[in-house]
Amino acid sequence: MSKVALVTGGSRGIGAAISKALQHAGHTVVATYAGNDDAAKAFTAETGIKTYKWSVADYDACAAGIRQIEDEVGPIAILVNNAGITRDAMFHKMTPQQWKEVIDTNLTGLFNMTHPVWSGMRDRKFGRIINISSINGQKGQAGQANYSAAKAGDLGFTKALAQEGARAGITVNAICPGYIATEMVKAIDEKVLADRIIPQIPVGRLGEPEEIARAVVFLASDDAGFITGSTISANGGQYFV
Ligand code: NDP
Repeated sequence: MSKVALVTGGSRGIGAAISKALQHAGHTVVATYAGNDDAAKAFTAETGIKTYKWSVADYDACAAGIRQIEDEVGPIAILVNNAGITRDAMFHKMTPQQWKEVIDTNLTGLFNMTHPVWSGMRDRKFGRIINISSINGQKGQAGQANYSAAKAGDLGFTKALAQEGARAGITVNAICPGYIATEMVKAIDEKVLADRIIPQIPVGRLGEPEEIARAVVFLASDDAGFITGSTISANGGQYFV
């Protein structure tokens, strides 16, 4: 059945693939983004999907933006917390600012976006929350103490909220992508990709954004009602939990 789905960071990269896949599955999709107006405009022109700009790190902006979307489009039944950033540095060089920006966006952003939709989902006895974490939240990654901490926190958040939402018909799950061929990963030097990164991936290639998107569509579906508190690792066999 068609539902209203909100995808944060839904106009670029993995988020754009998720938005398109949910639209293809018949849902009414809206996407948020932080500042890249050109990408958002091009995305809306291509897909017809409405985009809204605010930072997931700002609670008041999230609450106001969600109110606006629910007034304009309808109650949000599916929330995909996908927006994320990196501010990499080895820990001895990491600044408090790099720590804070990543925690505020990648971890607190989940609170900020989920809290304003939670009561409505409880009242309507239905909700699907899908959090895009990372393989680096599962295994840790040198140079990413901030990102690994935030993404590991996303998994704890997912499991706690799954328990709270279960009786109210709300499922809360996480997906941990490995290396996915987005602009960010494609920007890595080809030789580094070929010699150092791809050999770590047993399937022998990067993942495609659509491969994450298809997992989201499944978790968002009525068929996935018995799956909650789960983490899907989509990493080509690079890491098993
Ligand atoms: P991109 O950098 O391609 O896109 C990130 C999206 O998030 C953009 O739409 C961006 O908006 C938005 N965004 C960033 N900060 C904020 C903010 N404060 N408020 C609202 N929106 C924001 O990222 P990817 O597609 O590569 O990654 C998507 C998710 O998947 C992230 O959570 C990432 O951590 C995770 N992931 C990615 C992997 C990969 O290999 N690519 C691997 C594992 C996890 P704008 O367009 O305005 O900049």
